[in-house]
Amino acid sequence: MILFENIVFGPVKSRRLGTSLGINLLPLHGKWCNFDCIYCECGWNKDGRNDKQLHPRSAVRAALEARLQQLASTDELPDAITFSGNGEPTLHPEFSGIVGDVIALRDLYAPKAKVCLLSNATNIGKKEVFQALRRIDRPILKLDSGFAETVKLMNCPQNDYSIKNVVAALQAFKGEFILQTMFLRGEHEGVKIDNTTPAELDKWLHIVAQLRPKEVMIYTIDRATPAKNLQKVPLEELETIADKVRAMGILVRTAG
Ligand code: SF4
Repeated sequence: MILFENIVFGPVKSRRLGTSLGINLLPLHGKWCNFDCIYCECGWNKDGRNDKQLHPRSAVRAALEARLQQLASTDELPDAITFSGNGEPTLHPEFSGIVGDVIALRDLYAPKAKVCLLSNATNIGKKEVFQALRRIDRPILKLDSGFAETVKLMNCPQNDYSIKNVVAALQAFKGEFILQTMFLRGEHEGVKIDNTTPAELDKWLHIVAQLRPKEVMIYTIDRATPAKNLQKVPLEELETIADKVRAMGILVRTAG
């Protein structure tokens, strides 16, 4: 289990974003998410639930400003400033204001850096969250399967989740987002999981064709996962899936 122990962390070398300075709006000693993905690098939600400390907007702004000033002084400004960390950033009650602060600080200290966000897309139907995400250069939004049953197995939503609603909300981005999908196989609590079957891929590709995101990121397990019987999908298979998306004229990045 990897938890980020500061509000601002890195820059880290990201498989997908270059050098990325991370912003963690969630508690430092536990995960805070409305999914509980079986592959989450932060572990299960139940681990570290005693820490419920969300960082106030003023603390996030101060921490980011101090770090950007430091990085500017050593000529080490990052390629990206990324909302990620110990859970789902859009759950923070001051999310929208924080996005405004981060964009303003980026403009001031690191104008070449892209503001990015990793989100499970569950809150994008909320007007305030949607409007904040429209201001972010690279909103990277998760959809691991077009089947509710598979989402339930892989992502364990903690409240009502509707693929139909999430796809409709994604459609409102008019392609100005990056779709992110984790492919894996394995078994959890006696149930087989595989989101690479022909039926899964047909359904997923249909949604990709419908949404036409500006980019698709497909990846597989890279580190230890909380569920123990999961397997990576080989890079060659990810590339075969990626080729089907490329054939639609959509940019794809794979990380095996
Ligand atoms: S959405 Fe992200 S933070 Fe939340 S459980 Fe899944 S992988 Fe972890």
